[in-house]
Amino acid sequence: MFFIIGTKFFTFGSEKTAEQIRCSQCGALTQFTEKTGMNFITLFFVVPTIPISGKKKFIECPNCSARFQTE
Ligand SMILES: [Zn+2]
Repeated sequence: MFFIIGTKFFTFGSEKTAEQIRCSQCGALTQFTEKTGMNFITLFFVVPTIPISGKKKFIECPNCSARFQTE
């Protein structure tokens, strides 16, 4: 059996921020999407197997997809 191991950053969550935030990358004033992400070791690049980082909270700009860590 041959395993292909990789790492992938998975994100989940799609809450909108309560306040509008100015994106420092594209300048848009908009509600950002709040997401939680974790790095996983994956099998065959698909199956998340072992988390290799803690949870990271960040917000994502819906306009240009820039991500900003919130804590
Ligand atoms: Zn932006």
